Amino acid sequence: MGEDAPELCSFYGKTRALVDGLVAGPSSLICAECLELGQEIMAQELQQ
Ligand SMILES: [Zn+2]
Repeated sequence: MGEDAPELCSFYGKTRALVDGLVAGPSSLICAECLELGQEIMAQELQQ
């Protein structure tokens, strides 16, 4: 046991090794891939 908890994207659970970068929020992490996905989803939501 240690403090090296694996850093996982909170969206899809990808580890840092699988993604280009992780953005840390107050209580979660999101990867660049999911940020882009989130922007697309948001754009669609706003069009409705
Ligand atoms: Zn992600």
